[in-house]
Amino acid sequence: MDHARLMTQAAMLRKKLGEDSSSPIDIFAVAQSIENLTIVYYPLGENLSGMCIKGQEENNLIAINSAMTLGRQRFSLAHEFYHLFYDDNMISVCAKKINSGRDIERAADMFASYFLMPDAALQERAEQFSGKNPNKELTLEDVIRIEQYFGVSHQSAVYRLMHTPYLGETRGNVFLGESVRRKAETLGYSADLYLPSAEEKKYMTYGNYINQTKQVVERGLVSEGKYEELLMAAFRADLVYGDDTEGGDVID
Ligand SMILES: [Zn+2]
Repeated sequence: MDHARLMTQAAMLRKKLGEDSSSPIDIFAVAQSIENLTIVYYPLGENLSGMCIKGQEENNLIAINSAMTLGRQRFSLAHEFYHLFYDDNMISVCAKKINSGRDIERAADMFASYFLMPDAALQERAEQFSGKNPNKELTLEDVIRIEQYFGVSHQSAVYRLMHTPYLGETRGNVFLGESVRRKAETLGYSADLYLPSAEEKKYMTYGNYINQTKQVVERGLVSEGKYEELLMAAFRADLVYGDDTEGGDVID
């Protein structure tokens, strides 16, 4: 695998999307800012992490398995960005297991890792934490701090770090088997990264589809009733019926 190329592509896409080269990235917000992209969150079952479908006139769609943990969803979204921007295939259906399957799937995983955890920033953190330990290696707590900082799953943080002198393969494999949610909480972090989306967010559509639907009703191309039907099909009952917060927008 051409790591240098994937690293460059990850850095180039961060730049293109208006992000700097080292900070943690709010990838859900970034996805919503990509033109012509619809993002669907949906429980896709046990085996799939997501898919990317490139449609006519650049009407593109990314679906993310909302039954996976938040950290994993963030990783999957970055993985789908690879298909969207750097893969010639029009349809990609992606397995849940990281670093498995065809070369293009492995490349997309590596790209996602570099996109969410830029190498220089990761090395800097790893160096800083490991430097405080007697054996100059990362502890499990250090790895948790790093995955929390970049907002990635425990698995993807360990996979990346186990190929560095800061962690190594043997200890990496031990850390992969550790359940870290409680440990993260006792370090003062929220457990969000290790949990799936809340029930009311498991079915959700953002981006191009919602905007396009509004435009067709505004131009009188569809009736108000059809507009509501289209929103309901996209799990946006909140836009049809309002939600709990309606009428009470907080101005802050
Ligand atoms: Zn894929």
